[in-house]
Amino acid sequence: MLEDKNQNRTSLAELGEFGLINHITKYFTISHSSTVKAVGDDAAVLDASTKQTVISTDLLIEGVHFDLSYMPLKHLGYKAVMVNLSDIYAMNAVAEQITVSIAVSNRFPLEAVEELYAGIQLACETYQIDLIGGDTTSSTKGMLLSITAIGKANKEDLVFRNGAQPTDLIVVTGDLGAAYLGLQVLEREKQVFKVNPQNQPDLDNYTYLIERQLKPEARKDIAELLKELDVKPTSMIDVSDGISSELFHICTQSNVGCKIYEDKLPLDPQVIATCEEFEIDSTMVALSGGEDYELLFTVPISDYEKVKGNPNFSIIGHITEKNQGLQLVTRSSKEIELKAQGWNSFKEN
Ligand code: ADP
Ligand code: MG
Repeated sequence: MLEDKNQNRTSLAELGEFGLINHITKYFTISHSSTVKAVGDDAAVLDASTKQTVISTDLLIEGVHFDLSYMPLKHLGYKAVMVNLSDIYAMNAVAEQITVSIAVSNRFPLEAVEELYAGIQLACETYQIDLIGGDTTSSTKGMLLSITAIGKANKEDLVFRNGAQPTDLIVVTGDLGAAYLGLQVLEREKQVFKVNPQNQPDLDNYTYLIERQLKPEARKDIAELLKELDVKPTSMIDVSDGISSELFHICTQSNVGCKIYEDKLPLDPQVIATCEEFEIDSTMVALSGGEDYELLFTVPISDYEKVKGNPNFSIIGHITEKNQGLQLVTRSSKEIELKAQGWNSFKEN
């Protein structure tokens, strides 16, 4: 995990808006030649040259998308950048810039905004991203954070959700369900803490799960790996809501069905152990957990030799004709219909 905060409190009103913007952006450096003008003017200027520009944006609201009682601000900043980069990587593009817009209530001191930006800066350094602008304003309640990520790609390298074909293999990177379980562990500890603040949680058995929830990494490496392997996916999506929901998007947009196999779903041992402890079905968690920020993609079956056995990839099934629907083949060889029960911000509970 990232290191912790200091205890000072400086009121944001003391600095004023311009002082604050200057204070939080001054330590960022620019590393891409495509960034012509960054923070400081009325607008940033980019030069994508002969490439296509890829843009994705996300809005995060305190109490809806994050809970600061267990999400340190530095982690929030880092994760908010990851969520956006993940969308750019899911297009098989290279992310190069972000803008960051924040609204904070007077409950937050300058030190809180510094923490948030420390996480954003760490993400920018680690992933080679230029901060090129944003907006700063106050809110009547809580914190809002919106990040826009900008990337580029050669036109012929872009991968959309709509290109999957029957017989294509369905591949997922990394493993699934850990971030969701990390959240369950943190929620449980929060409840325990409410009852007894003296209780020191022992989280040793959940380190991977908590890391996946609080400090996810976007799969910048996959586009590079696919290039090395000379594989161009026919479709791709990032796993933000759980693969069930992502397969729905791919299948709907590609006008196909799919069949995935329960015994092929990649699960970390901590996920399996914690599912047993919490008495929840690990397959449900892998399918619908969400926030994995892995990539789900399809490749022609002729690429089987290129992707098989790669430690980054699990082949979990294949694309079928549309009339076959979306099917999960269980360990006992039963076929059940997949439901798109991903995270839905509008869904109750
Ligand atoms: P304007 O009044 O034109 O909206 P601002 O005073 O809001 O300009 O912003 C000044 C500069 O600082 C701009 O380049 C803007 O993109 C940048 N900026 C403002 N807020 C942020 C922020 N939270 N993070 C990064 N850059 C920011
Ligand atoms: Mg502004």
